[in-house]
Amino acid sequence: MSEITNVPGIFGSDVFNESAMKQRLAPETYCAWKKCIETGTPLDLPVANGIAQAMKNWATEKGATHYTHWFQPMTGITAEKHDSFISPVGDGKVLMEFSGKELVRGEPDASSFPSGGLRATFEARGYTAWDPTSFAFVKDGSLYIPTCFFSYTGEALDKKTPLLRSMDEVSREAIRILRLFGDTETKRVVASVGAEQEYFLIPRDLYAQREDLRLTGRTLFGAPAPKGQELEDHYFGTIRTRVSSYMKDLDEQLWRLGILSKTKHNEVAPTQHEMAPIYTDANTACDHNQLIMEIMKKCAAKHNLVCLLHEKPFSGVNGSGKHNNWSLSTDTGKNLFSPGKTPRQNAQFLVFLAAFLKGVDEYQDFLRCTVASAGNDHRLGANEAPPAIVSVFLGDELNGIVESIINGTNYIEPEKSLMRIGVDVLPSIPKDTTDRNRTSPLAFTGNKFEFRMVGSAQSISGSNVALNTIMAEELGKFADILENAKDFDAALQKLVCETFTEHQRIIFNGNGYGSDWPKEAEKRGLSNLDSTASCLPAYVSQKNIELVTKHGIFTEAEFRARHEIYLETYIKVVKIEALTAVDMIRHQILPAASAYATTLCDAIVSKEAVGATCKAEHALVTKLSAATDALYDCCEKLVADLENAPEDVAEAATYYHEIILADMAAARKEADLLESLTDKSYWPYPTYSDLLFY
Ligand code: ADP
Ligand code: MG
Repeated sequence: MSEITNVPGIFGSDVFNESAMKQRLAPETYCAWKKCIETGTPLDLPVANGIAQAMKNWATEKGATHYTHWFQPMTGITAEKHDSFISPVGDGKVLMEFSGKELVRGEPDASSFPSGGLRATFEARGYTAWDPTSFAFVKDGSLYIPTCFFSYTGEALDKKTPLLRSMDEVSREAIRILRLFGDTETKRVVASVGAEQEYFLIPRDLYAQREDLRLTGRTLFGAPAPKGQELEDHYFGTIRTRVSSYMKDLDEQLWRLGILSKTKHNEVAPTQHEMAPIYTDANTACDHNQLIMEIMKKCAAKHNLVCLLHEKPFSGVNGSGKHNNWSLSTDTGKNLFSPGKTPRQNAQFLVFLAAFLKGVDEYQDFLRCTVASAGNDHRLGANEAPPAIVSVFLGDELNGIVESIINGTNYIEPEKSLMRIGVDVLPSIPKDTTDRNRTSPLAFTGNKFEFRMVGSAQSISGSNVALNTIMAEELGKFADILENAKDFDAALQKLVCETFTEHQRIIFNGNGYGSDWPKEAEKRGLSNLDSTASCLPAYVSQKNIELVTKHGIFTEAEFRARHEIYLETYIKVVKIEALTAVDMIRHQILPAASAYATTLCDAIVSKEAVGATCKAEHALVTKLSAATDALYDCCEKLVADLENAPEDVAEAATYYHEIILADMAAARKEADLLESLTDKSYWPYPTYSDLLFY
């Protein structure tokens, strides 16, 4: 791996970003693009042609021969179809061409992408439309054009469109509040996101020997290694050479694509690592996170490693998540979750805080559902990741302020009712003193909220759509009240006090891993959706449908389509895991255990012939045989239960959660026992020691 000597020089060098555009576009074309970004005005064809031409020239100079409309179907990963720039000009010759039309609109053959029934009712085709707010880039010999993906009648079939819609909504409603506080400058409020990404790296040759890892991304079997993460010697430990050369390579590729890769370190579990970029607008952050996941995987192959993004590749050690840091800021650079310095700024901060708390409390289920997946079910609530219960951590200082405001209204201790909102200055809230509560799903960390429930393999789009939309909803309601108030300060005081009082139950500063928290949460009336199967019905509640349709984030059909896809995906994932388990049991585990038992029996015959004792062999054979029989029974039961799965998808999700996963766990117990009893040379796949301590 060569040294990277010129980071500023390579940073963004493969991106057709603002500076490339400024350099390459005619001034009037550049201005038209700028205007389109700032005001949302559509680009006319001559402008699109100008941009396409410049983009193509730039990309071909970088070695691109193809272009692709890059989109994010509802599978949660990205999709692309490549067309070359060639165009015949007679004489058997070609030119490299790319028109504004080709830039702006595409029509991939999309019949194989999940549509949740959306396309069936309308038209089979899907269309892609350029998202001019996210920069095009060159990768692997193609010009990548970020696009939205939708049906003939305009239904969103992707994860980008609703995110863009939610960003517009939260901006619009936030500006109404800002205007009330005398801000006349802000034209746009931007949802900003920094997503920390966890991942595992294991050697490629070992990975290749495990069918479960290859087919499902996680180990379905594996006795615990003698050592796990108990010594905590991996967290922030020295990064080994092979991994650090991978990380260096990864950084270089990400920087070339203009991704602000900032922090890298070892995580808690052995072979687990983390990478965090500097935050940017939610749309770009989401595109970048998709690229990060893809490049993490591709880059690993070059280093003879495999990058596992599954939420729980190994049982018994921590799984992987994504910390989604989210905030709102103005286009003039002000963070709206920064407590200010003056009473006015403090008051505005408290309004945004109140709206956030109210939104999270009222739409706990919605937020929770955005992180529901078969993989993430292994983490949430398992004392290694936040609980499945949504709550907000504010820290002592901010919590104290909220309490004093609440108590002030109740006049419990009039002399202590410190805060007159809009008049008094907030006691200072020291930054970063309180963010060490890692057990909270949603923590205030000084000037942003860190949503820690997202799974490592998931798109961050869904969670940010939810955060933006609930915030838009509550800010909108607040604006309705405050815009019509006769006495603004009095109305403000009342609104903030009442909101804090009503939604205080969502604030929890204690230990989210504690066994008393679920009980306490139940008393508070907070919901505890402990699995994907229990989440999905809640996702399409009337309340959520009203929320998303009111703000134009989804039509009801679009929303229900997503519900359908999540259900189907959940069932498919668990089914593939179950079938893989059966395959491994029948073709690898049972034969290995049997072969070893036979060897032991042969040994017993030979040893007894010379009068030697065989206590150990007898005992081992007995244990092996018992576990082998038990595993056989478990496997037969799993197969029979798979055949009896209900047709109806909603019923099936519950069935797979309750019956199939339980069968798999029972089988695993016996298989792992067999592994611990069997001579290693007989064992058909690498063990946890091999994988985690290579
Ligand atoms: P840690 O959470 O590990 O203490 P930091 O708080 O410094 O680390 O940052 C974590 C992530 O949060 C980074 O991706 C960072 O860019 C992002 N971040 C920082 N400030 C904001 C903000 N205002 N809005 C959104 N993300 C932010
Ligand atoms: Mg963090």
